[in-house]
Amino acid sequence: MTLFDLAIIGSGPAGLSASVYASRYGIKNVVIGGIAGGLTTQTHEIGNWLGTEKITGFEFAMKASAHAESYGTKNIVALVDAIESKDEKYILLLSNGEKLEAKAILLAMGTKHRRLGVVGEKEFTGKGVSYCATCDGFFYRGKTVAVVGGNDSAAGAAVYLGDIAEKVFVIYRGEKIRCESFWATALEKNPKIEILYNTNVKEIKGEGKVQELLLDSPFNNSDTLKVDGVFVEIGSDPNVELVKNLEIETDENGYLKIDPSGKTSRKGIWAAGDITTGSDKFKQIVTAAAEGAVAAHSIHGYLKR
Ligand SMILES: Cc1cc2nc3c(=O)[nH]c(=O)nc-3n(C[C@H](O)[C@H](O)[C@H](O)COP(=O)(O)OP(=O)(O)OC[C@H]3O[C@@H](n4cnc5c(N)ncnc54)[C@H](O)[C@@H]3O)c2cc1C
Repeated sequence: MTLFDLAIIGSGPAGLSASVYASRYGIKNVVIGGIAGGLTTQTHEIGNWLGTEKITGFEFAMKASAHAESYGTKNIVALVDAIESKDEKYILLLSNGEKLEAKAILLAMGTKHRRLGVVGEKEFTGKGVSYCATCDGFFYRGKTVAVVGGNDSAAGAAVYLGDIAEKVFVIYRGEKIRCESFWATALEKNPKIEILYNTNVKEIKGEGKVQELLLDSPFNNSDTLKVDGVFVEIGSDPNVELVKNLEIETDENGYLKIDPSGKTSRKGIWAAGDITTGSDKFKQIVTAAAEGAVAAHSIHGYLKR
């Protein structure tokens, strides 16, 4: 079993940034994760990464991953299924059957999309229900779609789909969309986008694929809305199932509590990015990358001691 100084779990901006810093500190590190780049691969355009006015999420992900690998870091495309602690070290069991040992761990598993929890959602996932406009928007050229939600991600998805679909409904339970004014302006500018406020989806219906949504508030005198697809963008929850057995302190919503250096309540374990309570829970690439860098710095000090 190979022993690493540091095992980084998650290959999003937090994990990859931590890896770049760790490698430059001479820390023998390994990055284990799903698609390199994490959630950035689901972003159609990034316009707030300093020094790069516009870059597609996919290109950003490729560059970030190549940057981390340029230092010779081992990058394993797999999930960590379990973590066991043994003699002040940790053993990681991976989904590809590999086993690794590490002196320190950085948890950077980000978040997972929240589900609507309505009838039809599970049944039609992949058949008209999607959680990623960037990945699936292409299939709705000239069609009618709905985006459920009212945050930056929902607004971004609606604007993106507005360039592809014939009509985009944004279904939001509140009275005012809560997004950056950049997105609010873009929503307003596109005549194909229509926002239904104070409205919830009660059920997703169809035969073999999504055909209509049952609403709790009538639109055009009807409580059903005909759509070809529905994109769920109602927020996310931290990806913490893997570490439940380690009894790391969390806040009331399950986010991992970290101190200013990224340390969790458990010795030898740090956390960074969207999974933490850090950066005022401002879930962005820049904050995730910064938390990864700070954690690598702290881990360097720990390993030296
Ligand atoms: C649609 C959309 C648009 C966005 N647009 C922007 C934007 O324009 N600008 C911006 O700054 N931010 C944007 N964001 C937010 C940004 O993408 C996130 O804040 C950022 O990716 C968080 O990075 P992270 O490394 O913490 O987690 P993530 O990017 O979520 O990465 C988590 C990683 O953990 C891995 N993982 C999960 N479980 C395991 C496991 N058990 N074992 C191993 N690996 C695991 C995943 O495979 C993934 O690699 C957007 C987000 C979305 C959804």
